[in-house]
Amino acid sequence: RNAGLGSWPGRRAAMSPGHTALIFGERRTTYAELHERSARLATALRTAGIQPGDRVAYLGPNHPSFVETMFATWMLGAIFVPLNFRLTPPEIEYQLRHSGTALLVHAIPVDAPVRTRIALSDLDAFRAAEPIADEAETGLDDVACILYTSGTTGHPKGAMLTHGNLIWNCYNLLVCVDVASDEITLVSAPLFHVAALNQCLLPTFLKGGTSVIMPGWDVDGCFDAIAGHRITWMFGVSQMFAGLSQSPRWATADLTSVRCLMTGGAPVPEALIRAYQERGLAFCQGYGMTETAPGATFLEARESRAHIGSAGLPVFFTDVRVARPDLTPADPGEPGEVLVRGPNVTPGYWNDPAATAAALTDGWFRSGDLAIVDEAGHYRIIDRTKDMYISGGENVYPAEVEAAIFEHPAVAEAAVVGVPDEKWGEVGRAFVVPAPGSSLSPGDVPAFLAGRLARYKIPVYVDVVDDLPRTGSNKVRKGPLRTRPLPGPA
Ligand code: ATP
Ligand code: MG
Repeated sequence: RNAGLGSWPGRRAAMSPGHTALIFGERRTTYAELHERSARLATALRTAGIQPGDRVAYLGPNHPSFVETMFATWMLGAIFVPLNFRLTPPEIEYQLRHSGTALLVHAIPVDAPVRTRIALSDLDAFRAAEPIADEAETGLDDVACILYTSGTTGHPKGAMLTHGNLIWNCYNLLVCVDVASDEITLVSAPLFHVAALNQCLLPTFLKGGTSVIMPGWDVDGCFDAIAGHRITWMFGVSQMFAGLSQSPRWATADLTSVRCLMTGGAPVPEALIRAYQERGLAFCQGYGMTETAPGATFLEARESRAHIGSAGLPVFFTDVRVARPDLTPADPGEPGEVLVRGPNVTPGYWNDPAATAAALTDGWFRSGDLAIVDEAGHYRIIDRTKDMYISGGENVYPAEVEAAIFEHPAVAEAAVVGVPDEKWGEVGRAFVVPAPGSSLSPGDVPAFLAGRLARYKIPVYVDVVDDLPRTGSNKVRKGPLRTRPLPGPA
């Protein structure tokens, strides 16, 4: 009893009251202050009618109030719903209705179908004078969060994560990354996304370290924060790390405090890993998803050179398997779907029994990702099942083609989709963004790939574009790319 996350601020405040929990701009919050502010907010939420199991949502960029609202919600045994503020108003409204949110804290104006809403600017006035004296006791199986998936492949799905799911992921991470009590973690990815929340903020909190919260992603701000706060570790998707390594500040920036950089959440180009290794940085890759809170496999930095590009081994307390379509285990080297089972795996999607039944089979979560396990037992993520296309009878994995295009020095970003073709069934179409200051013409891409990739993998169409459509967690959304009208062949 009372093993849940609502007890964390109180336990931490008792252990390390004066230690800095959060840094946000000039503002520093100790563990004692964070506990008090969250507990006073909990009193106010209860006065506003929030009961155990009710949903409390937060809509806005990274801010200490996100953390306080989350802990206050958990102190009441209620369910926290962090929303992606980059969604359109109808999408936000859908998630508020779907989750049945009773109370919304919002940093941006929104038409919200909720009983109570509180603007961020009113939150301090709303907070009660008295901290809550009788926190609800939450158990490990109680739902802590509804986290909407990134919506990379379609409509975001509301994954339920229990207190146990979140906590077991923290344990898995503590084993893999060795998070320490003197950690100074840069929280630069958005907190509504599971990676920032549960690969950065909560594990750092559990150990009593300091989280430096950035309101949004920006390359210069990241360099400044790393040097200014002596950041020891951070998580980022590969596009964020590519932004750093392509910046003019890369060569001279002070990165001496960094102990570990962690990436994942989307395919990681090998050229990027090499750039970080050459800079002498420990760069590790994880593979996971919202539904597994999120870690499923992890490659330790010290293994990173020997197994470049691999997503590593299953995390400590979790089973992972690559399976055939009938869900029996695939042989080493045989591509199959990644299945995950363990204490970090979601009990299902909120209010969506059909999606839950489709995703969970005999306790295994079906990731929708293709991978192979190599001879060393390491996982190599190939691509999403849905993104694979078939050209002339051959399977093409866009992620492999993208990685090859990414080796071109003038390419900053690349995305490949399959498009219908009369002769071949489907052919590839590449969208490439030139690196800053570089010029690139469509014909350069197939010319560069000739000899590097089999002919059937080389995209027939190439579009040089300024940017790619992305989700709130910075992943390329391929749906809109698939439906763009075709240009002439390159
Ligand atoms: P949706 O489920 O709504 O389509 P999403 O799957 O992108 O969106 P997330 O839960 O944020 O939502 O992302 C999980 C997915 O990210 C994984 O299923 C996988 O496709 C991809 N991914 C995560 N880590 C890696 C990695 N290291 N390499 C390649 N792909 C990864
Ligand atoms: Mg998904």
